[in-house]
Amino acid sequence: MSKTLYLVVPCYNEEEVLPETSKRLRAIMADLIGSGKISSESRICFVDDGSRDRTWEMIEDLHDGDPLFRGVKLSRNRGHQNALLGGMMTVREDCDALISLDADLQDDPNAILQMVDKWLDGADIVYGVRSARKTDTFFKRFTAEGFYKVMEWMGAKVVFNHADYRLMSARALDALAEYREVNLFLRGMVPTIGYRTEIVTYERNERFAGESKYPLKKMLALAWNGITSFSTRPLDLIVTLGVVLCAIAAVMLLICAGRAIWGVSPAAVEVFSYSLWLLGGIQLIALGVVGEYVGKIYAEVKGRPRYIIEKYL
Ligand code: UDP
Ligand code: MG
Repeated sequence: MSKTLYLVVPCYNEEEVLPETSKRLRAIMADLIGSGKISSESRICFVDDGSRDRTWEMIEDLHDGDPLFRGVKLSRNRGHQNALLGGMMTVREDCDALISLDADLQDDPNAILQMVDKWLDGADIVYGVRSARKTDTFFKRFTAEGFYKVMEWMGAKVVFNHADYRLMSARALDALAEYREVNLFLRGMVPTIGYRTEIVTYERNERFAGESKYPLKKMLALAWNGITSFSTRPLDLIVTLGVVLCAIAAVMLLICAGRAIWGVSPAAVEVFSYSLWLLGGIQLIALGVVGEYVGKIYAEVKGRPRYIIEKYL
């Protein structure tokens, strides 16, 4: 019995690309089903993220015309990450694995074939990784690659140049369902699951039609969310800054004391300003300590699974 694969495609005002996207994805699914790699129960599921154009009507028409297409409609626009998770959790029990990809054909659909091969070989998670960013503008490339570097430096585990184009098996999805957080940053959450993971590289195309639904503001919000959801490094930085300030102030005050002993009294304003530094440093350290507790509360509140068992003999 071959296994069932779903494609999950979040769509926000994508009426311009849906006809082409559905055509291309249908051809790929037909190929896979025809070759017997996946079962005929496999489906393409579009998730309408509260679009204001004809996106949902088009999804309904697709579904009426061909049972290969399914649709999920969110009650309103909730953003890409929420739409994606909503779609994945909705179809999770109907499939053995799913692949999430963008509606605009930027994620080269041909990589689906390689992802499926790796999955059938036993991988639970297959990441689509961009081999080149030739088609991105300099600005997008610079900000995006900078973002991955900052994330890495902040200590969050993300796969370099991987967005949300990935295959996840049913058991990886079950694990993801255990993550209770509401501030979603899927590309940070998924690598914490574990299991056997593989990578497939692909070339990122240009958006097929229409405009990016990810303006700079949304991109920055996502980046900030990623950092604050996956790293308490900013808190450590506060403490470090406090310690450095204290150390400088302490040394300077010691020098002042030494000078006083040797009979060269320092000016009062000098002593006063170093004392201010010392006080500022102490406050920063105190703030950082409080922050460490807040960070722990944050981790507890997220209620992520403490472990995921892969096998039990
Ligand atoms: N998207 C969504 N909800 C939103 C914004 C975007 O579901 O609020 C979808 C969009 O339809 C597309 C994917 O997320 O399928 C990626 O968006 P886009 O291609 O505009 O981002 P970019 O590739 O420019 O970063
Ligand atoms: Mg895009």
